[in-house]
Amino acid sequence: MSVKGRRAVYPGSFDPFHRGHENIVRRAAKLFDELIVGVGFNPTKIPAFSMEERLLAIRETVQDLTHVQVMTFSGLAVNFVRGQKAQFMVRGIRALSDMEYEATMSLTNATMAPEIETVFLMAGKEYTNLSSTLIRQIATHGGDLLPFVPTPIISHVERRFGKAAEPQEEG
Ligand code: ADP
Repeated sequence: MSVKGRRAVYPGSFDPFHRGHENIVRRAAKLFDELIVGVGFNPTKIPAFSMEERLLAIRETVQDLTHVQVMTFSGLAVNFVRGQKAQFMVRGIRALSDMEYEATMSLTNATMAPEIETVFLMAGKEYTNLSSTLIRQIATHGGDLLPFVPTPIISHVERRFGKAAEPQEEG
């Protein structure tokens, strides 16, 4: 990857990656010359999927976007962004409830790395209520994941949470 042009990192847990995340990636990919999806470890959340599993599934989902890379990272997202020599960090906002946390994070990141600009994209209107928690709940109860999860990721989620993972009791 060259260091010229506008390079952005979209960090997150993506546990799992859903259509709301994909929508942000596809829109951000139009804004930047290079985009890196950073699959990180959030110490406040116990992961359902391994970093490697998330990485491979996201790669498959966005493989048509040739200027988008998917990588894993540990530690602070802002350090990862800086290490990748990116000028921008992308975050998605679903509702006002996301604003407080995201504003705190972006101000803290700006203190640590003033050269990195956080760019917020509003969630696509069909995806404002979508979260990885919701996906895990739908999968646990055997619901149809297709409206919420990119096709290459469905089998991963069903294997972990769906009927194949834990046969349901009858009656
Ligand atoms: P994190 O642990 O960093 O919050 P997530 O995987 O939950 O990681 O989210 C990664 C980013 O994607 C965050 O900026 C989050 O606000 C955003 N995001 C989550 N769900 C959606 C959605 N439905 N639409 C748009 N952005 C979203």
